[in-house]
Amino acid sequence: MSTATEQSKVDALVSRAQALYEDVSFESVRRWKGQSECRKAIGFLPIYAPREVIHAAGALPVGILGGGDQLEIVRGDSFFQSYICHLPRSVVEMAVSGRLDAMDGFLFPSICDVIRNLSGMFQMLLAGKYVHYLDLPQNFDSELGGEFYRTELHAIADAVGALTGTRVTDSRLRGSIALYNQNRRAIQELLQLRTEQPWLVPTTEYYLLLRAGYLLPVDQHTALIDEYLQAVPHAGRRPLDNIRVLIRGAFCEQPPLALLRTLERAGCYVVDDDFVLGSRFIPRQLDETGDPWTALVEGFTRHSVSTASKYDEANTKGEDLVSLVRAVRADGVLLMAPSFCDPALLDQPMLQSALDKAGIPFTSFKYSEDTGQFQVIREQAGTFADAIKLWGKA
Ligand code: SF4
Repeated sequence: MSTATEQSKVDALVSRAQALYEDVSFESVRRWKGQSECRKAIGFLPIYAPREVIHAAGALPVGILGGGDQLEIVRGDSFFQSYICHLPRSVVEMAVSGRLDAMDGFLFPSICDVIRNLSGMFQMLLAGKYVHYLDLPQNFDSELGGEFYRTELHAIADAVGALTGTRVTDSRLRGSIALYNQNRRAIQELLQLRTEQPWLVPTTEYYLLLRAGYLLPVDQHTALIDEYLQAVPHAGRRPLDNIRVLIRGAFCEQPPLALLRTLERAGCYVVDDDFVLGSRFIPRQLDETGDPWTALVEGFTRHSVSTASKYDEANTKGEDLVSLVRAVRADGVLLMAPSFCDPALLDQPMLQSALDKAGIPFTSFKYSEDTGQFQVIREQAGTFADAIKLWGKA
């Protein structure tokens, strides 16, 4: 196959992912539901929800990450003070404008007060829909937090199963875990390729591929990534003189696509990040043969990734970040957080202190999902990249 043919394959896959990204009215979910009356969709907010349980109940888990820069906020602003991040405004806008009508229920994971309050608003705004505040454990002892989380998983299984008419049996749940294991494997391969040869996997393409997983059925998403992984090494892409950066802080409200493009144009290859973090919150394979509830509980309590809204029981977040920077051979770190994001911004001093001690260059800036001006960020990231190229430090 010629490089042009492989590049056109990649273009087609990325176009499909981009169309899904732009689908802020969830038309793809409506089409999926339209194929059978018993099909239901459950929306979940950042960061992580146990999609296997929703899938095993016969429903489609749909990630709701806000409207980005594609949605004009008409009523959403009136629900929040000015010192609150942007994501809940666009989510409320989506709700009151009917864009979320395709959802039959919603999960609001316990990551911050904003998401908690949003779950209460949804109970009032969309009365009659299933709305569950998913109280994720902050205690990781299997007898305490683990048992608590198991109860949460069963509650979700019962509620979604009641909507679809499909009971979540152990065998169905094992089947769903196996499908999501395939997806985890594909995402890990994508991450590895991006870390090893970042010029093959531009950040915008990588990001769009991850986002597609929040709308597509899991098997279709795995196939999308696998096809990309097969085609992209033969698409004739060449390395540029960019520095390698690791990004932290973008785990909930997502940066606009143009911001990601700006970082790359400023001379940064992103080799690790926390975008769309729920898609890879448990990076390893879960047991497909034993008790599937235990597999999910242990996945969360023992193997989930570290992030700002998760209690750092061992108090090693700073050290872990330094180790990761070294493992992915990053030249520096971009601490980019949504404006007014308490969890991300409260973590930053601790992360900065660990980076300082380790002599790792970093820079920080804030964004919101509808940021439209990138000149300042381009200059900041460009100067950061140039300083590292010239002197090895920022
Ligand atoms: S962006 Fe930060 S503050 Fe806003 S909802 Fe997400 S975690 Fe909460």
